[in-house]
Amino acid sequence: MLLYIHFPFCVQKCKYCAFYSQVLVPEMVEIYEQALLQEIDFWARNLGSRQIESIYLGGGTPSLCSLSFLKQVLEKIHHYFKVPSPIEFTLEANPESCKKEQVKGWYQLGVNRVSLGIQSFTEENLKLLGRIHSLKESRKAYYLLRQAGFKNINFDLMFGLPGQSVGKWLEEVKMGVSLRPEHFSCYGFTLEPGTYFAEKEKDYLWPLEEEVAKMYLYGAEYLESAGYLQYEISNYARMGYNAQHNVGYWEGVDFLGLGPSAVSTIGQKRWQNPPNIKQYALEVEQGFKGLKVERIEGIKEVNEMVMLSLRTCKGLSLKKFRQKTGLNFTQIFQKSLEVLYNKGLISFRKGYVRLTRPGLLLSDSIIPQFFLEEGLCPDGDKS
Ligand code: SF4
Repeated sequence: MLLYIHFPFCVQKCKYCAFYSQVLVPEMVEIYEQALLQEIDFWARNLGSRQIESIYLGGGTPSLCSLSFLKQVLEKIHHYFKVPSPIEFTLEANPESCKKEQVKGWYQLGVNRVSLGIQSFTEENLKLLGRIHSLKESRKAYYLLRQAGFKNINFDLMFGLPGQSVGKWLEEVKMGVSLRPEHFSCYGFTLEPGTYFAEKEKDYLWPLEEEVAKMYLYGAEYLESAGYLQYEISNYARMGYNAQHNVGYWEGVDFLGLGPSAVSTIGQKRWQNPPNIKQYALEVEQGFKGLKVERIEGIKEVNEMVMLSLRTCKGLSLKKFRQKTGLNFTQIFQKSLEVLYNKGLISFRKGYVRLTRPGLLLSDSIIPQFFLEEGLCPDGDKS
C-alpha cells in the first residue's frame, strides 16, 4: 500500500493552483494536526498492520509542516504499519521554506526524496505565476538539500506559460540540468477552473498549440540527451531514480490518502476525504460515517488501467489486459491501432503497446479510443 499525506497549507495561493490548500492559519493547523493523528489511528484499526511501500507528503506546502508534528505522524505510522527499510519517502518542498534546520530535520526523520517546486528558472515567470520564491532561493534550497545529504531531488517545472517561447523554455530546462537533480517533472500549463488565470485568461498572451508541442518535444529530447530518461508523460529520471510512489500509483497499487481532500483506493473501493479542514475533522471524529465509497471494478477498473498504463513509457501489457478482460486488445481495437501506428503515434514492444512521444503529447485524445464500452468487458457485465 502506498501512503499519501496531504498538508493543506500554503503561505499564499498561487495564481494557477487548483489543489486543495488554504493560507496557513495557526488555529486551522491545530485542527488539522489533531484530525490527521486521529485518522491514522482510525485506518490502523480498520486496515490492520499493512505493509507500506512508499510515503509521499504532498500539499499544499508540506515544507511548512513543523518537524515535531512530522515526527509524531511518523511514529504513529511506524507503530501501526509495516514500514520496510529503506522506503522511498518524498516530501514536496517550496524553495522559500527550505531553511537549514528544517532541511536537516527532514533528513534525520527519514525523508530521502525531495520534490522541489521550482516551477520556473526566470524571475519574470515566478512573479507571473504568483510564486513567492526567487531564483536565488531555488538555488539555495537545492544546495541546502544536498548539504543535508539528500541524494534524490526532483525539480517541478512548468511550460506553456504566457509570453514563453520555445527558446526560453529550453533555456530553463538547461538551467535545471546544470544543477544535476536526479529527476524532473515537467508539466504543461493548464487552465484550472476557479483559478486566477482561468478568470483572466483573455488578459494574457498564450503560446500557440504548436509552440507548446515543440516545448514538450524539444524539452524531452534535451532531457534525454542529458541522461534523464522519460518514463511517463511528464516525468524524467536518471537511471534508478524513477519515483516509486508514482510508479505504484500508475500500476494500480492500493493507496491510502490521509488529510483533507486526499483520495484513497483500497481493494477496489475509492473514497475522498472532504476538501475542507473542518468537515474533514468532523468526518474523522465521526468515524467516516458520511464517506461516499465508489467501487472501481468491471469496465471502470479496466479503463483506468488502460488510462494509467498508456500514460507511462512502458505502456499497457497486452497479457494483463487479456487476463483482466478475457479480450484481445489488438483485435478489438485493430482499426484505431492501425491508424495510430501508421501516424507514428503508437508502437509495440515485448508484449506492450505504448504511445510514442508525439503520441504522449496527444494522449488526451488517443487514450479514450481504447476505453471499453458497456457490454464489451465480461468483468464489466458482472458489475
Ligand atoms: S504552493 Fe503549491 S499547493 Fe500552494 S498554492 Fe502554490 S501551487 Fe498550490
